[in-house]
Amino acid sequence: MLKLDNHPSGRHFLHIPGPSPVPSRILRAISYQTIDHRGPEFGVFGLSLLTQIKQLFKTKNPVIIYPSSGTGAWEAALVNTLNTGDLVLMYESGHFASLWNRLALRMGLRTEIIGQPGIEGWRYGVDAQKIEERLKADTQHEIKAVCVVHNETSTGVTSDMLAVRKAIDAAKHPALLMVDTISGLCSADYQNDDWGVDVTISGSQKGLMMPPGLGFNVISQKAIEASHDSKMPKAYWAWDEILEANKTGYFPTTPATNLLYGLSEAIEMIMGEGLEQVFQRHQKLGAACRAAVEAWGLEVLCKDPAVYSPVVTSVLLPEGIDANALRKVILERYNLSLGTGLGRLNGRVFRIGHLGDCNELSLMAAISGCEMGLQAFGITLKGSGVLAAQKILQ
Ligand SMILES: *Cc1c(COP(=O)(O)O)cnc(C)c1O
Repeated sequence: MLKLDNHPSGRHFLHIPGPSPVPSRILRAISYQTIDHRGPEFGVFGLSLLTQIKQLFKTKNPVIIYPSSGTGAWEAALVNTLNTGDLVLMYESGHFASLWNRLALRMGLRTEIIGQPGIEGWRYGVDAQKIEERLKADTQHEIKAVCVVHNETSTGVTSDMLAVRKAIDAAKHPALLMVDTISGLCSADYQNDDWGVDVTISGSQKGLMMPPGLGFNVISQKAIEASHDSKMPKAYWAWDEILEANKTGYFPTTPATNLLYGLSEAIEMIMGEGLEQVFQRHQKLGAACRAAVEAWGLEVLCKDPAVYSPVVTSVLLPEGIDANALRKVILERYNLSLGTGLGRLNGRVFRIGHLGDCNELSLMAAISGCEMGLQAFGITLKGSGVLAAQKILQ
């Protein structure tokens, strides 16, 4: 059991950009009795779930559900469609994109990184023009896949995936489009089919309001065809046996039964609120959070308003201020968890998550905690972020 004897009163404010707080309705659903995953009830439940989940991705394609974190789903996307030594174009938009690149290298793929170097480069969205130019130059079609991150959780930038699709089409290039929307799903609009994504990668613990433990691949017909020619070693991640079993609502191996109950409940909650309403709520929370940062006189890391993330806001601190020491003060004083700076941004930023089961007042609490913490840390603020955020939310 977790050691809780120093647990402070009141609730913990979990404002990291995933895992996000899990609503009690989902926790209760997860606590239902585990049933026989080969029994008659399960097939009915599984079929319904595998159909329902498509709505979240705006897709008619099959959705593969893995008992894994998002990283597993990254690996699955690559090993199902590619061959050892294939060249993959990786757009380095931030820390998660660079981790996906590292994973691809470990799997025996060759990668080429494009994007802007340095912290400065991480402050903008994916430049589809760059992808188009690179693909046009690849007349031999050596590049087999283009990998991009939709919502870069390390920076707070949500890139335009339709622009990437158009870039690939404009170059008349056959590469597969693979998109990581692990933190974008159910918090930023995502249109799998209209954006022509071949493999979408996602996970449960961010906008979906679930605990960690489920990974997703949404797979196009073109990706399924590529999987027939793919010889990279795979067994657990292989789509073929999963697709076969999924036809009747079952899984080839033991699924995470109780997490699937939670997933079913999460879908019901999200569709009950309405997907578009969910996105609007996130947009509004994001705007309020950025207004607070500006009022403090601090900098939002993302420099292009067209790609501000509705999921997470990264706050860049003046040089010489240690963001991790600040986060520690805020956690100790106010029981508020903020996201750490990742990779190049470590120590330079802290991140405020406003995704999933988050509303006006939970965000206001987080902003208030940040404001008090910044002052306690000795940072002079230009004005009140709390008041500025309230103005947006009123
Ligand atoms: C959280 C996250 C991941 C990593 O997923 P894990 O579940 O930690 O394996 C990858 N990409 C993005 C954009 C993320 O936000």
